[in-house]
Amino acid sequence: MRWREHPEPDVSAEPAYSGTSRPRRTVVALGGNAIAPAGTGGTAEEQTRNIRRAMTLIAELIVDGREIVITHGNGPQVGNLLLKNEMAKDVVPAMPLDWCVAQTQATIGYQMITALEHALEAHGDLSTVVPVISRIEVSADDPAWSDPSKPIGPYITDEAEVARRRRDGQQFVDLGGRGWRRVVPSPRPRTLLESMTINLLLDAGAVVVANGGGGIPMVRGDDGLLVGVEAVIDKDLAGALLARELRATGLVILTDVEAVAVDFGTPRQRWLSKIGTRDLRTLAAKGEFARGSMGPKVEAALTFVDDTGMPAAIGSLDDVIAVVRGHAGTLVVPDAATAERSRS
Ligand code: ADP
Ligand code: MG
Repeated sequence: MRWREHPEPDVSAEPAYSGTSRPRRTVVALGGNAIAPAGTGGTAEEQTRNIRRAMTLIAELIVDGREIVITHGNGPQVGNLLLKNEMAKDVVPAMPLDWCVAQTQATIGYQMITALEHALEAHGDLSTVVPVISRIEVSADDPAWSDPSKPIGPYITDEAEVARRRRDGQQFVDLGGRGWRRVVPSPRPRTLLESMTINLLLDAGAVVVANGGGGIPMVRGDDGLLVGVEAVIDKDLAGALLARELRATGLVILTDVEAVAVDFGTPRQRWLSKIGTRDLRTLAAKGEFARGSMGPKVEAALTFVDDTGMPAAIGSLDDVIAVVRGHAGTLVVPDAATAERSRS
């Protein structure tokens, strides 16, 4: 497809009214599905290859002088791990979902930092790349506990298999032609528990990978102590929170489609190149963006742009450089009213 040229030069550009000399700080969120695409099975080799490809592109942005903070999803990976735990539960104890989130955060993070170090070294950049074990506080009262919405693990096309697993208490969402996918509760991210660590690392010049898999969900008990809970936080909503807390000048969400579409999957499908928050919210209210996939990306972009007055972009991982520069994907910009509020 062809792109209308955006007048904005760069999603991570310092806005004219900011008046600071802070480097352009962009939070880049990579989709778990872009790392382990549906239908590939997601072997270690495939995921490593995809991560390397993504980190090679991201290294170029870093060498170009942008401060990049990376976050990533884990939907396919955490679902696969959960499945393995369940299948092997009579041999070794099955680990709860928050443990699986932590494990996938670590394995994807380990692959990312290694690939990014190599890619940076190829440019003569010896920056330290650090993965942060990231926990996020969620609310014990979140309505999501009784309404699972986050798809994880493989697409299942065998209806009998879905029926059998439903009898075991698992919940599934019908994704039309692509099959069914297991869904788990996805409470809203409330508080980043690693903000101080991440800020210290950024101040020291490190490149940080944080909030993997949306962060490890925890709730605070009546005794004030944090305990892990079985859920998967949406990494796009967590990414918006991360970007806001780190005072990022841009949020970029990378996935496996080239942009946000209206009439997605129909003959009338049309990609959006640039849109203001009011118009995007109107489309969201009309149900254009599927729950659990494009819905949270749009919501994350809207939240970030509304809260900060800075732009957000949603596009394909393959186009990361063009998306960050505002030349591909969907660029979400503040409406005049939001820009006015951020200025005052
Ligand atoms: P990720 O792992 O990157 O978060 P998701 O599967 O959660 O990936 O979200 C991306 C998917 O959203 C696309 O592959 C596409 O099938 C789906 N989608 C749903 N609605 C839309 C829409 N309106 N425009 C574009 N993609 C959409
Ligand atoms: Mg997703």
